[in-house]
Amino acid sequence: MQQKAARHVSTKPHNKTGLRVACGVFGIFDHDDAAALTALGLHALQHRGQEAAGIVSFDGKHYHSERRMGLVGDHFTKQGIIDRLKGRYATGHVRYSTTGDTIARNIQPLFCDLDAGGFALCHNGNLTNALTVRKQLIKKGAIFQSTSDTEVIIHLIARSAKRTFAERFIDAILQIEGGYALVGQTNKKLIGARDPLGIRPLVLGQLDGSYVLASETCAFDIIGAKFVREVDNGEVVIITKDGIESHRPFPKRAARPCIFEYIYFARPDSIVGGRCVYEIRKEMGKQLARESGVDADVIVPVPDSGVPAAIGYARESGIPFEHGIIRNHYVGRTFIEPEQQIRALGVRLKHSATRCEIEGKRVVMIDDSIVRGTTSVKLVQMMFEAGAKEVHLRIASPPITHPDFYGIDTPDQEKLLAATHDLKSMCKYIGAGTLAFLSVEGLYKSMGYGARNPETPQFTDHCFTGDYPTRLRDREGSDMQQQLSLLAEIG
Ligand code: AMP
Repeated sequence: MQQKAARHVSTKPHNKTGLRVACGVFGIFDHDDAAALTALGLHALQHRGQEAAGIVSFDGKHYHSERRMGLVGDHFTKQGIIDRLKGRYATGHVRYSTTGDTIARNIQPLFCDLDAGGFALCHNGNLTNALTVRKQLIKKGAIFQSTSDTEVIIHLIARSAKRTFAERFIDAILQIEGGYALVGQTNKKLIGARDPLGIRPLVLGQLDGSYVLASETCAFDIIGAKFVREVDNGEVVIITKDGIESHRPFPKRAARPCIFEYIYFARPDSIVGGRCVYEIRKEMGKQLARESGVDADVIVPVPDSGVPAAIGYARESGIPFEHGIIRNHYVGRTFIEPEQQIRALGVRLKHSATRCEIEGKRVVMIDDSIVRGTTSVKLVQMMFEAGAKEVHLRIASPPITHPDFYGIDTPDQEKLLAATHDLKSMCKYIGAGTLAFLSVEGLYKSMGYGARNPETPQFTDHCFTGDYPTRLRDREGSDMQQQLSLLAEIG
């Protein structure tokens, strides 16, 4: 369902519950080292979520579940809990959530005992009708164990009147809306599913004859698995001892994967939608240089996310590239810290200037995106403190004016710098000499398209355009107040 959302989108419900999570999912079917390989796969997907990690395995008789706050490598070691995760089937999840939501009961995989046996479920994305469905289910007597939108899917499967597990799973996903890549596991099956538009990524691979599912191909590279193909938009794959079945329960639609995966979220060495993310980011940098070149002495990336675009910008402009900012890798991503004050501190802890490359120079600083503006303000100031003569900020994506509701963590709209400031006042706020963003058309050019198709855009780009590709049912009209009171109950 296509819907152009109103220019201003209320984000209140989301933030109250913190239902929004950005995550990585992984699953492997029938392998001797299922849990260890899952831990490695999750380690490669760590950039998708650093707050918590979990693995569920099945040994043919029993399920084993280990879910922990923190990084994969902090807990899932061979000597430790991996040994307890017995069995040849495993699914795993890394999680990255907003404040208030980081509680043990929300760590995935979610696990339940259904009448047909155990079921574990991992979800990357966000359902846009989770609260509406949840409310209906609660009225019918469902008792929720978590505040995660993912649990809605489990309840829908449990209550489905269909016969086989595959039919019940499909029956459940036909009732949900939003962005999702799901990896589920039963006693006999590994299941993968992608939302009808393929907003969130999911890939299928093979290792030693066993099937593997993951959010990104970098999870295959770490374990030496071979990439087989993407799970298509709206496709459900069911892997059993007999092989793989594909179901397409939704009416056929063109895919609209999330363009922000290419800009920021996916790892640069991953192949997403047949494109090398690193190459795409370089293209974005080249296009940015064509659109808004400036006389300067040095191109400096904001590490790590701005590096490929800065390489592209430097190549196209002919201006030398230097690592003028060094990142301390032992500090978490700035976004992890919930409060503005702490986030600002995080930025200072994280970056320092390579003074010898900056002093007396006209600097072009390149980052992939501006969200609240915190990083840009700090780093522009840092460049001047290191002796830069001029600082020009170039951003390899368009201004983010709208929040994401499909699994990428973005703040309320009023906290998005570009939603409340025009270019001139953003530049002033940041303290740069000049500021320019990649245009939406330029973004599509970098992706290999002549232009954005206005009728059915090739990607979902709602963060830049407000063109949300699904209904935002939990936020609609008169129901909104009801939703808010429900949230007060469950938040
Ligand atoms: P801000 O400092 O709020 O403007 O955020 C921009 C910085 O955060 C950029 O350096 C981006 O690389 C990074 N970034 C962009 N989107 C996200 C996100 N969803 N989660 C975490 N970091 C992000």
